[in-house]
Amino acid sequence: MTVTITDVSAILTQPGPSRLVIVKVRTSEPGLYGLGCATFTQRVHAVEAAIEQHLKPFLIGRDVDRIEELWQMSMVHGYWRNGPVLNNAISGVDQALWDIKGKRAGMPVYQLLGGKSREAASVYVHASGRDPHEVEDSARTLIEEGYRNVRIQMGGYGGEAANLHRPKDAPEGNYFDPRAYSRSMLGMIEHVRTELDPAIELLHDIHERLNPIDAVQFAKDVEQYRLFFLEDMFAPEDIGWFRTVRQQCATPLAMGELFNNPHEWRGLIVDQLIDFVRMHVSQVGGITPARNIAIFAGTFGVRTAWHGPGDTSPVGHAANLHLDLWAPNFGIQEWYQPSELEYEMFPGLPTISDGYLYPNERPGLGIEIDEELAAQHPCEDIIEQWTQTRRPDGSSARP
Ligand code: MG
Repeated sequence: MTVTITDVSAILTQPGPSRLVIVKVRTSEPGLYGLGCATFTQRVHAVEAAIEQHLKPFLIGRDVDRIEELWQMSMVHGYWRNGPVLNNAISGVDQALWDIKGKRAGMPVYQLLGGKSREAASVYVHASGRDPHEVEDSARTLIEEGYRNVRIQMGGYGGEAANLHRPKDAPEGNYFDPRAYSRSMLGMIEHVRTELDPAIELLHDIHERLNPIDAVQFAKDVEQYRLFFLEDMFAPEDIGWFRTVRQQCATPLAMGELFNNPHEWRGLIVDQLIDFVRMHVSQVGGITPARNIAIFAGTFGVRTAWHGPGDTSPVGHAANLHLDLWAPNFGIQEWYQPSELEYEMFPGLPTISDGYLYPNERPGLGIEIDEELAAQHPCEDIIEQWTQTRRPDGSSARP
């Protein structure tokens, strides 16, 4: 008998710094439902409306088994497509349908994708500090916990904001100096690389803060430190510069957390201009497109490194892990070290041991949500500060 969708709802909660959006798809089979991640933390109410006012009426009564068809139809049903709000909403439903299919099959989702290529996913975590010594100490703490791959940042994404040469009456904001960034980060990376065991892999995220030609110089300058990868050295608007840097150095490059549209990653993969795709899985539309991206990238020798900080929900992290366990071209997984509250709110949240992320063997995505607990932690509606980014003269910049 056909099992159909009977309800689609958005659960908004904030157990930590990030506002999360979880989709729950209920079905005609008593007790059978699925969960998915639709987290676009800066615009949760827009995603909630897309889910409950636009996707839900379209999806009620549809066959839960037809994941592919529902994904394709959801993407074109609004005619205008590939924006972050709609993609996240579609992802929530898509992941929930994979969860449901796994529960119906009695198998974890990685089995439906083709089965395990590995027992666990190797992860990297974030070290930071105000100066190179603090970053080194932060990294050492993580290494003692068993992590082998560490992303090193200093003074937030823009580097140290003190001593900026600002004009009079410059407005408030999240200031940074791109040229100073290059100088101070190179010093920090050299320090940490020199002090730590060479077997510990280091990563760095430029977060699109440099002018493109300065980013090219930065990639050349860090080549000697053999980073595991250098992330987001260009903004999506500047991806044409990848060809320039690729011709000049062998620093491994990772890109993609802001991508929405296949046009954004297709050329980078086909021309082998990057080494890792690291899209926010909900931002591209869920497991269905992420699976296709992984297969496509693998054909060209490009590995996966799905976006995985705190603004991916625990359900999204579970989805990432199922992709990681299956993908033959898995590279590494970003991991955010969830709080005790998050483990309590999301039973089944993957667990870490000695730098590896492990799944449970429950059917589907293997994760639940305690909705009563989630309701006790509602989203706080704030005006985001860290994205109000400015250069020293006060002009607006990309965060
Ligand atoms: Mg990043």
